[in-house]
Amino acid sequence: MAKVLCVLYDDPSGGRPRSYARDDLPRLDGYPGGQTLPTPSGVDFTPGELLGSVSGELGLRPFLEAAGHTLVVTSDKEAVLDRELADADVVISQPFWPAYLTADRIAGARNLKLAITAGIGSDHVDLDAAIAHGVTVAEVTYCNSISVAEHVMMSILALVRNYLPSHQVVLDGGWDIAGCVARSYDVEGMHIGTVAAGRIGTAVLRRLAPFGVHLHYTDRHRLPAEVERELGLNYHPSAADMVPSCDVVTINAPLHPETEGLFGDELIATMKRGAYLINTARARIADRDAVVRALESGQLAGYAGDVWFPQPAPADHPWRTMPHHGMTPHISGSSLSAQARYAAGTREILESWLTGTPIRDEYLIVDSGALAGTGAHSYSVTR
Ligand code: NDP
Repeated sequence: MAKVLCVLYDDPSGGRPRSYARDDLPRLDGYPGGQTLPTPSGVDFTPGELLGSVSGELGLRPFLEAAGHTLVVTSDKEAVLDRELADADVVISQPFWPAYLTADRIAGARNLKLAITAGIGSDHVDLDAAIAHGVTVAEVTYCNSISVAEHVMMSILALVRNYLPSHQVVLDGGWDIAGCVARSYDVEGMHIGTVAAGRIGTAVLRRLAPFGVHLHYTDRHRLPAEVERELGLNYHPSAADMVPSCDVVTINAPLHPETEGLFGDELIATMKRGAYLINTARARIADRDAVVRALESGQLAGYAGDVWFPQPAPADHPWRTMPHHGMTPHISGSSLSAQARYAAGTREILESWLTGTPIRDEYLIVDSGALAGTGAHSYSVTR
């Protein structure tokens, strides 16, 4: 029987909701490109309810306990994680509240065989250590890609149109139109580029196309020529080549050795003065203090996103107080809609692993001592 350790974010400060803003979720038939939605044998939760916090348990308890397995759920990413990890077979955690599986932790977890990311982005797991110790790493590919793409769209519009400060004027009882519009522009006609055109990056490009903008991208692999033609994309061989042309840059690449620290002083200095930078990928792709400096000097006109390091961000993290930002806590990929998909996908991965059937290739990041599946395509390791 397996011991499954699930590290989730805390319940809302007011307690688990008794009712929800909406009664149902839209029904989706599949993901863009044809990948199917998660296919567990069943689910023990109501889609649209809070599943990603401790009391939601990703809806896994009835299924696991009925089969005799043990489920431990905690929000404690330190003492309880360390104690329970010692004999856990499976660890589940979400990028929004990552259980950092460092090399030391993986070395000390004598039974650990599977680390599941209930979401997308497994950089909180030391992939080199997972490879060395034969730990399989899997994530629920595509579960929240569109959720994040929508957050990127919202962030671009919020920054360029100066939405958040203008909303604050209303909250404060004021009517300072000139103060609001003195930093407000139209997105139409702008040059907008994405670093990476994978599932999220491509979804962002598709959503931007009708805005009458000029689209740019860089990626390790070029998109099919018909997609480039359809969306009018300008391909650049590197971020360094792309960013000087852009009014808005959105980062949609995984954090791995190639992308860590990419947006430092040097690259930001080559951007147009007054460019906007949106990062919903991973905080450490941007240099924390370089971003602050660029906002203070005016080199960047705005920065938004939802990813921080570490998470949760400390109260004195400079991104909370830097000028012209549109940051949120790490929420873009954890809408109630996304939670239903990643809870179902987590169960699908567990069902596969517990019955010894192969985990879908598109969910795999590391398997059998090497990068695998989606991981082999999108990640790199230092070994
Ligand atoms: P995908 O795997 O579909 O796409 C990632 C893309 O990044 C691939 O096209 C890959 O290229 C490209 N890439 C990798 N390295 C580089 C590089 N050095 N330069 C340019 N492109 C690169 O992932 P998603 O689009 O679904 O997600 C992307 C990232 O977004 C995740 O890894 C995660 O970190 C983050 N994310 C954030 C969420 C949030 O809640 N804020 C939720 C979900 C994801 P190729 O495959 O062609 O080699």
